[in-house]
Amino acid sequence: MRTIDVVSLYPKDMNIYGDSGNVLTVRRRLELYGYAPRVHMVDQDDPWPEHVDVILGGGGQDAGQRKVIDDLHERADDLRAMAADGVPMLMICGMYQLFGEYFKTIDGDRMEGIGVLGAYTIGKPQRLIGNLVEHSDEFGDIIGYENHSGQTFLREDAEPLGYVKSLDGAGNNGSDDTEGARAHNVIGTYMHGSLLPKNPAVADFLIRRAVERRYGAFDTDEQTPEQRQTLEHLDRVIRSARHVAA
Ligand code: GLN
Repeated sequence: MRTIDVVSLYPKDMNIYGDSGNVLTVRRRLELYGYAPRVHMVDQDDPWPEHVDVILGGGGQDAGQRKVIDDLHERADDLRAMAADGVPMLMICGMYQLFGEYFKTIDGDRMEGIGVLGAYTIGKPQRLIGNLVEHSDEFGDIIGYENHSGQTFLREDAEPLGYVKSLDGAGNNGSDDTEGARAHNVIGTYMHGSLLPKNPAVADFLIRRAVERRYGAFDTDEQTPEQRQTLEHLDRVIRSARHVAA
């Protein structure tokens, strides 16, 4: 059975609004496609596993971000090299901000990001909170929930994950309709929810890129008929729930 190594980055301090659901979704869908996921929880000072195929980071309060920032900078060269090499990564909210250039908090602190994404974030008094639907040409409609004080602005050449569709959604900053950012196979986004259970197209993007990098191509050769049926059933349920939400 082909193994895929999944890193859950800072699950202790960066994991709010159900972001650990992203890890569960990647693990479950990998199993149902016939792969053997191995999940590694990596907190501060923990070693990297020998193989890293996909990295998932969650959101956190400003205080949580302060707790992980030194460790993140120690890993920054490795993370930048892995991103440039095509390792798929999903960074939600607080980790999205730290994968950008910097985050200036509402208290006036400045946390340097690791610069994987061409974006910077400024904390503002009014939090941006609510359900959010955005559109991406690659993934279609993406459904989630945002809650952040930081407003993120993309550099001119940076690509958003999508554009805000819902009338009450804010996205990166509430003014330019962009949401999230992409570079290489790295996705940064404000979408909690959790994101991946509701948006299998994004989950499958991360899974396919991870498998392609490690094994050359994605296939379902080791999927059992029961696994195929379960996945089809799951996707039908998700489709009807998405229909209601959108
Ligand atoms: N602390 C950040 C902010 O409020 C991130 C919050 C979050 O991850 N939900 O902007």
